[in-house]
Amino acid sequence: MPDEPAIATGPRGVVMLVPFGKFPTAQVDAVADHLRAHAQVEVRTQAAVPLPKAAWYAPRQRYRADALLDHLEAMYADAPSTTRVLGLTTFDISTSKPPHDDWGIFGLGQMPGRAAVVSTFRLRRKAKNPAHVQRRLATTALHELGHTFGLDHCTEPLCPMQDAEGSIANTDSANDDFGPECLRAIDRLAPRAAAPQ
Ligand SMILES: [Zn+2]
Ligand SMILES: [Zn+2]
Repeated sequence: MPDEPAIATGPRGVVMLVPFGKFPTAQVDAVADHLRAHAQVEVRTQAAVPLPKAAWYAPRQRYRADALLDHLEAMYADAPSTTRVLGLTTFDISTSKPPHDDWGIFGLGQMPGRAAVVSTFRLRRKAKNPAHVQRRLATTALHELGHTFGLDHCTEPLCPMQDAEGSIANTDSANDDFGPECLRAIDRLAPRAAAPQ
């Protein structure tokens, strides 16, 4: 009798969490727990690093997310292909979103790619309490990590991969887990290892 195929219950890969400057430890831990539970990844928290001066955009007093991604990518250039890196910052971040040259965002992730970044600057706005900010942060981190594994925006009701469309409403209403379509896609794009490592 052939053996039953093993059910893959291991991680999809390793996520390095990199706090930029002073970032609350409780929020880092909340992101780590959320990604372990809902992205099925191993998470390692790294020592904080300074925000790179090259990413500062003086006209708007904020950091260019694309430059932060380049910085994070370079830090882990030699890591295995399944490794991802997620930067966390309290400062405002921005990207180019035609017709806007510099558009403030919650987060940005390469699609697919190694690096993503999330900022709590806009997530703190009109939040009910610290737990609310923490949940927005965790949901946004899962969304940006999903992009790095190759997931695009979807239209599944309450899926965390829905386009935020410049508003926090979709983030606030999203479920913790990917919708069935996104889950099938990530299982194909970034399959889980055969067993816990
Ligand atoms: Zn997105
Ligand atoms: Zn989805």
